[in-house]
Amino acid sequence: MNALQLLRNALPGRVRRALLWGALVALLLVAQTLLVMLTVRHEASRQQEAVERVADEVAAELRRTVMRSVQALQAQLWSGGGAAPWQAGATELLRTQREVLRVERRGTDMVLLGSLASPYSAPLFEQLGRDQMSAETELTCSAARRASAPAFSRSYFVPQPGGLGVEVIDACIPVQRDGGHDGFVVLSFGLGSLLEESAGAQRLRRHEFSIVEMDGTRLARAGMARGAGFYHARHLLELPGSALQLRVDSAEGSPQLIPNLSTALVLGLSVVLFALLLLLARDVRRRAQAEHALAEALAFRKAMEDSLSTGLRARTLDGRISYVNPAFCTMVGFSADELRSTAPPPYWPPEHVEEYTERQAARMRAEPVDNPHQEGFETVFMRRDGERFPVMIYETPLVDGAGRHTGWMSAVLDMSAQRRVEELSRQQQERLQASARLATVGEMASLLSHELNQPLAAIASYATGSLNLLQQPDDQTPDMLRHAVTRIAEQAERAGRVIKSVHDFVRRREQARESIRADQLIDAVLPLVRLQARKSGTRIELEYPDPIPRVMCDRTMVEQVLLNLTRNGIQAMETSTPQPQRLLRLRVHPSQEGRVGFSVIDAGPGIPAEVAQRLFTPFFTTRSEGMGLGLSLCRTVIEQHGGALEFESVPQPEGPGGTEFRFTLPDAARVARAVPVRA
Ligand code: ADP
Repeated sequence: MNALQLLRNALPGRVRRALLWGALVALLLVAQTLLVMLTVRHEASRQQEAVERVADEVAAELRRTVMRSVQALQAQLWSGGGAAPWQAGATELLRTQREVLRVERRGTDMVLLGSLASPYSAPLFEQLGRDQMSAETELTCSAARRASAPAFSRSYFVPQPGGLGVEVIDACIPVQRDGGHDGFVVLSFGLGSLLEESAGAQRLRRHEFSIVEMDGTRLARAGMARGAGFYHARHLLELPGSALQLRVDSAEGSPQLIPNLSTALVLGLSVVLFALLLLLARDVRRRAQAEHALAEALAFRKAMEDSLSTGLRARTLDGRISYVNPAFCTMVGFSADELRSTAPPPYWPPEHVEEYTERQAARMRAEPVDNPHQEGFETVFMRRDGERFPVMIYETPLVDGAGRHTGWMSAVLDMSAQRRVEELSRQQQERLQASARLATVGEMASLLSHELNQPLAAIASYATGSLNLLQQPDDQTPDMLRHAVTRIAEQAERAGRVIKSVHDFVRRREQARESIRADQLIDAVLPLVRLQARKSGTRIELEYPDPIPRVMCDRTMVEQVLLNLTRNGIQAMETSTPQPQRLLRLRVHPSQEGRVGFSVIDAGPGIPAEVAQRLFTPFFTTRSEGMGLGLSLCRTVIEQHGGALEFESVPQPEGPGGTEFRFTLPDAARVARAVPVRA
């Protein structure tokens, strides 16, 4: 594993990316800086070279100018003798060469024989006499004589009127006549003019020229511009006997960051490049963020789909399965590939294939807007092992990003577990109700025996009477016997009715709903209610509206509800209500839209708050022989009929407050009217 791989493994993705970007930016910065530096340096060296070239040229020109004057005069001197030639030559020289300020003729002993001044400037030695300023000249001339060649003096300052002055150097030319020495001709050059003449107007505009001594002392300057001191060059003025230097100072300053077009271009490009890099980096970052968000969203969606217990299934417009989630595969026991490639779907039970094909065709033809299956429909699917199971399907149109209807999306719920639970609870409910009925009957056993006692006693006494009559028959015996037997039959029938009402109540189990008049419902339980009421001396009042409504209900169940409520009412009054006030009212009255209300009102002690809270809890009772199932069952039954069981305390004119238990049942007339609409 090399270092790069090690680094890649050790660092998290974000840090690695940041490092790479950092390195790239640093490299770019270094490259840009180098480029700018090189450009600036190149610019500087170009300027320096230019200055050196100028110094070279001007120094040569200066030397040429001086030497030309000297040589011109020398030539003149050699060509003829006497005073006339030097004067003619000097006059010509002074006229043509502005830098020559004065020409002197001196004798062998340095005595001034004559002089001519430049027509372009004031006489040189006006302020100070020539005698006082000839020391340098004399030294130079003696050197020239020794060398028999022209020599140049050191420069000296000649004051001028008005506090000004000129720096001058002299050229001393030894004059030979007839092989012997014949004095000197001295040329005085103004250094300033010399510089101006040699440099030329163009150069003067862009440079400052100075003549300096070896130690750097400036003697004269020329040039319209001031040198910036950044680019400068020195050059030795090779004049015999003199040690002067020419210094050239360019007016150009130090190279700026944007000194010229190319640098500006390079810099501009660098800035643009950098900006582009930043934009690129931002773009890459955004892209990475978007990718990250997308990947997360996808992962989240996948995790969500995988963890769903609801089956998901997408179908194209021609009914082909295009997607199923793992829950759907688990539900039907086929893999996603099998489901996608098999037609008709392998989970359709073979016996239903025809029906389902038609149903699917109808559904696929439906417009997305009038999709009839949004609210869900129930059907039967088959697992791989052949087991049929109920499913609930909710189907919605699948619409793509461009708003096109591309298929259908279904959520499929396996209902088998729910069905099992429902069946179990139905069976339990049934068992509970059966035991509750038995319990009620058990409670009534003593009442029954009491109730049966009367007819049985009557039968027994009629039978005894009849036997007695048969032992001593007379004329009236047949009539009396007939009367007795009729009574026996009546009493037997009465006893039979009592037994039958109990038998009916316990046995009746069918669940079907039927339309029944409200008073018939009450009449059915009335014998049993009266049985109980009579024992405690409770009066019973019935109240029906006119006409008496019919209700749609499970008769057996509702009868039991009525029986439970009346029994509870009678029992409540038995304990604390004085006998004359024991009144149980059974009311039938119109209720809200499409329902009929039933009320059982007692004059008992009412229900205390702590009991009220737990009233409908199964097995809650305050009675020692009670089971506590009555009210909870009553509520279940009423809720199954779409109503609610409620209670309320009813103030009594005298004595403690009673209780009213209320419930409603569907009005049969309404139900009958509603049926054709639904069909
Ligand atoms: P059970 O009759 O077996 O006790 P119920 O569920 O029918 O079971 O009643 C539960 C309790 O509610 C009763 O024990 C009683 O305390 C109270 N209760 C029911 N009906 C009335 C009523 N009309 N007046 C006062 N208390 C009542």
